[in-house]
Amino acid sequence: MRSALRRGLQFVAVAAILALAGLQIWQALGDPYRVGIAVAVACAALLGIAAGEWAASAPRETAPPAAPPEAILKDAMDRVLTGIRGYLEDNLIYRNDLKGIDAGLAKITDPVRAREAIADLRAANNRMESKSAQLTEELEVARREIVLLRETVDEVERLALLDSLTQVGNRRFFDQTLKADMAACMASGADLCLALADIDRFKTVNDRFGHVVGDHLLKSFAEMLMNGAKGRGKTARYGGEEFALVFPGVPFPEARRIVETLRRDLESKRWVVGPKEQPLGVVTASFGLAKLAPGESAESFIHRADSRLMRAKSAGRNRLVADDGAQQPARAS
Ligand code: GH3
Ligand code: MG
Ligand code: MG
Repeated sequence: MRSALRRGLQFVAVAAILALAGLQIWQALGDPYRVGIAVAVACAALLGIAAGEWAASAPRETAPPAAPPEAILKDAMDRVLTGIRGYLEDNLIYRNDLKGIDAGLAKITDPVRAREAIADLRAANNRMESKSAQLTEELEVARREIVLLRETVDEVERLALLDSLTQVGNRRFFDQTLKADMAACMASGADLCLALADIDRFKTVNDRFGHVVGDHLLKSFAEMLMNGAKGRGKTARYGGEEFALVFPGVPFPEARRIVETLRRDLESKRWVVGPKEQPLGVVTASFGLAKLAPGESAESFIHRADSRLMRAKSAGRNRLVADDGAQQPARAS
């Protein structure tokens, strides 16, 4: 993911360079020296990025198969570089032509020859103008491709953090967000709470109704957790039929209230899932909740939430056990 992020930043850099170069060239049209400088600067910057790309991949012995966005980016950059190089060459010829015409003009006294020289000058200028327009168009095409690539990278990154079945965050998302939230909350002194939820006797759902129905239940359960924690907590599938709720900056009593509400809502529902509207009756889950202790490691934090969850299971399921050991009532009154 770090390399995808690096590429994302490269896309932004390339897009910015292209935009600036395009603007400069546009403003400098008719002034070949300024155009040359703008193009040279853009070219040097793009070559720098390309060199960095090459250097980053050079030490690998066996290059992995090129990811499609990377291949397209390389192609787009190659085309931009080729376009700019071609433009620079044309610009050099144009400058030499101008110099020649300029030197010749000084010596001309005959008005007919002077008109011819001016016509040459205008023709050279027209050629250069059409080259500039062509380059601007090519740069615009490349810019659009880069924007699309950036969107592709964003989408790939989003999907890489999503659980494909339930559409909540996956384990990788959980690991990342917990690490980041722990660092932020430790720095600010805010509370960070973690709840682990596990569907009770889920195996019997699979055994009685089949795995497809089990999958539907997992999806609905994940959706319910996500909606219940919305705005306060992040939901992730920790593994199997176990989910995590991370509550950054949420005071422990509030996190406990949210989780307890979720547990009650769950037990009060009469579940009907899947396209065949399979009636499952009552489904319950057990929850363990912990609050991050100062200086605590992620492993210890997860372990404490998990041990509370285990206690909720062994105490009869369908309950929340919070960090301080205080047990919530098993049933809504
Ligand atoms: P407990 O109350 O102790 O948690 O009992 P349980 O039956 O929920 O727990 P157990 O660990 O015995 O079984 C979990 C089951 O979850 C077994 C496994 O096949 C099922 N499972 C895990 N991932 C999936 C999935 O993606 N889809 C389906 N349908 N089932 C899954
Ligand atoms: Mg279970
Ligand atoms: Mg389990």
